[in-house]
Amino acid sequence: MIYLDHAATTPVPQEVADTVCRTLVNQFGNPSSQYPAGREAKALVARSRETVAQALGCEAERLVFTSCGTESDNWAIRLAAHRGRHTGKHIVTTAVEHSAVLETCRRLEQEGCTATYLRPDRNGNITAAQVAEALREDTVLVSVMLVNNESGCVFPIREIADVLRARGSKALLHTDAVQGFLKVPFRADSLGADLISISGHKVGAPKGVGALYLGERVRNPLPLLAGGGQENGLRSGTEATAQLAGFAKAVELRRKHLDDDLARMAGIKAYALERLLAIDGVERVGDGAAPHILAVSLAGYPSANVVEELGAQGICISAGSACHRGRASHVWEAMGLDRRVKAGVLRVSFGPETRKDEIDALAEALQRHRDARFPLL
Ligand code: PLP
Repeated sequence: MIYLDHAATTPVPQEVADTVCRTLVNQFGNPSSQYPAGREAKALVARSRETVAQALGCEAERLVFTSCGTESDNWAIRLAAHRGRHTGKHIVTTAVEHSAVLETCRRLEQEGCTATYLRPDRNGNITAAQVAEALREDTVLVSVMLVNNESGCVFPIREIADVLRARGSKALLHTDAVQGFLKVPFRADSLGADLISISGHKVGAPKGVGALYLGERVRNPLPLLAGGGQENGLRSGTEATAQLAGFAKAVELRRKHLDDDLARMAGIKAYALERLLAIDGVERVGDGAAPHILAVSLAGYPSANVVEELGAQGICISAGSACHRGRASHVWEAMGLDRRVKAGVLRVSFGPETRKDEIDALAEALQRHRDARFPLL
């Protein structure tokens, strides 16, 4: 299989899987238990938190483990709306956020909030000036992602934070950094965001684990789950020790050669762009700068057909977010792409292990698809 869909999820390295299995079998104690096996499990959770926090660039006590990026996004937005309820009910976000953010905002709208959805330019970019313009006295939350999962565009979170500070806004700043963590270097403690969502399975960890960074302005946050008081009373529930150990191991492995890996991924992306643009009818979509995501379009050739045909040949790419499951992407819609371009968008995404010969195979398969069919639009 040629796997070129690392923005959807990533392969789990054997070492991570071994860590997960070893923890499941040998360290199955409940971290709340008051005997050595429990204390051992508790220490393992603490070590995992330390490792992930270090990679994120914050103190361990600022990080709460969750079950996924979606959970982190939902919680961040709801807690910000709850915190600001006496100040206002206005949210600023973008029209190209992941559905975990958009759907939560829509639900809050049904509950009485109002939301402004900033539209990107044709290249997929959002500016801090747009946020400044949308900001109101009653804005309680600004939620802008760090890296768009479909276009690969990197949004200016630091600049947006500066806008909020300069305006003396009480709004919290949330960023969905699920696609940015360990792909686009940043430190949580200097990015300027109050809330940062990340997810394990985008960096080689098992599915079912994520985290939310809570900055110092987030005092007395609304707990997500009530119960036994785990995660500092913020998210009760017996800790997923094996997943957490796997998350930490994956992060440790990714950080080992991070700079080299990111440079190699950027090189692979440049190579893929050159090979794909050489195919008649292929054009680039957006100008995403993230090293692991490239969006192109074989204009007029429905992407669902391409994805399926290449998939049958063992080449995995996507038409956009895996979450759309065949529906047209709101991201391409918001970017105002031409109908034929929009219909043919393909997202190719890379990991540290992606090789040039895999890109060659993709380019050849796409060329064959193009040669064998007529555009439908
Ligand atoms: N946010 C972004 C930008 C994503 O790309 C994804 C996953 O595709 C998520 C949130 C959701 O993360 P998870 O799959 O861990 O729920």
